[in-house]
Amino acid sequence: WAKADGKSRWALYDPERNAREVARFTLSATMPAALERDEFYVDYQPLVGLHDGTVLGVEALVRWQHPEFGRLAPDRFIELAEETGLIVALGRWVLRTACQQARRWLDEFGKHAPFVSVNLAVRQSRDPDLVSDVRRILDEVGLSPHHLQLELTESAIMGTADEPLEALRALSDMGVRIAIDDFGTGYSNLAYLRHLPVHELKVAGSFMEGLRAEEGADPVDEQIVSTLVSLAHALGLTVTAEGVETPAQAERLRTIGCDAGQGWFFARPGPPDAVERLLRDQL
Ligand code: C2E
Ligand code: MG
Ligand code: MG
Ligand code: MG
Repeated sequence: WAKADGKSRWALYDPERNAREVARFTLSATMPAALERDEFYVDYQPLVGLHDGTVLGVEALVRWQHPEFGRLAPDRFIELAEETGLIVALGRWVLRTACQQARRWLDEFGKHAPFVSVNLAVRQSRDPDLVSDVRRILDEVGLSPHHLQLELTESAIMGTADEPLEALRALSDMGVRIAIDDFGTGYSNLAYLRHLPVHELKVAGSFMEGLRAEEGADPVDEQIVSTLVSLAHALGLTVTAEGVETPAQAERLRTIGCDAGQGWFFARPGPPDAVERLLRDQL
C-alpha cells in the first residue's frame, strides 16, 4: 500500500502481472456473450493413415475470433472456460459444429468421409448430461456415432470417480470412438488401460522431437514411441502420433508401426475447405 517501501509497492503493482490479470478477467467475463455472438469457430486438422496417406479422421480445434484481441488460440481461453464452467456450453457448441461438418462431409464423400475427433475438457467428462447431450446432437444432426471420436486426456480418464467412466462406457457402447489425448505426458496406469473403453491412443507431440532426423534421433524417445505402439496394438487400440512435423518423423513412425499421424507435415489446422481439397485428391 501507499506507505510501503518502493520494492514491495512494485510487487503489489507489477504492471505486467496486472495487465495479464485484467486480460484474463476480460476474456473470462466476455466469453458467454462471445458464444452468443458466434465469435468462436472451429479449425480442422487431418489424422492421416501412415500406410497409404488417406485422411482417416479430422480433429476439431476451437479458436476465438476476438473483436479486440484478434484470433486467440485455445491455450488462451480453454482453461478460463473450465474455471467458469462455460466449457460445458462451449464444448457442446464445438461438438455440434463438428458433427454438422462431419455430416456435410458424409454427404459429399460417402465412405471416404473422415470421422471428426472432438476434445472433451475434464469438466465435460464429469458433466452428468454428457451422454444425453452427445446422443441428442448426433440425432439432430443425423450422424452415426461411428463418425465421432472424443479425445480426453489421461487425467480426465484415470484415477477419477466411476461416473465419468460409466459415461465413457455408455458412449463407447453407443459406437462413439474414445481416444486418449497427449498420451505419455500424464500418469497413466498402463495396467488399467485394458479396462478402459478406449479405442485410440494419441501419442504426445513431445516424443516426436527424438524422431526428427536420422543423426539427431534420440533412441530413448524412439524406444518409448515404439513401446507405446506395441502396447496399444496388444490391447487392440490404434495409435495416432501428434506433432509430426517432418518427413523423417513420418517415415520413422511408419516403420515403427504407428497407424496414423497428425501434424504440420501432413496439414496445418484450417477451415473445412482445406480438408475438402485433401479429400478430393484422394478420391
Ligand atoms: P490437442 O488436443 O493436443 O491438439 C493438438 C494441438 O497441436 C493443436 O494446438 C494443434 O494446432 C497443434 N499441432 C498440430 N500439429 C502440430 C505440429 O506439427 N507441431 C506442433 N508444435 N503443434 C501442432 P491448438 O489448436 O492450439 O490446441 C491446443 C489445445 O487446446 C489442444 O491440444 C486441446 O487440448 C485444446 N483444445 C482445442 N480445441 C478444444 C476444444 O474444442 N475443447 C477443449 N476442451 N479443448 C480444446
Ligand atoms: Mg486433442
Ligand atoms: Mg493432443
Ligand atoms: Mg492437449
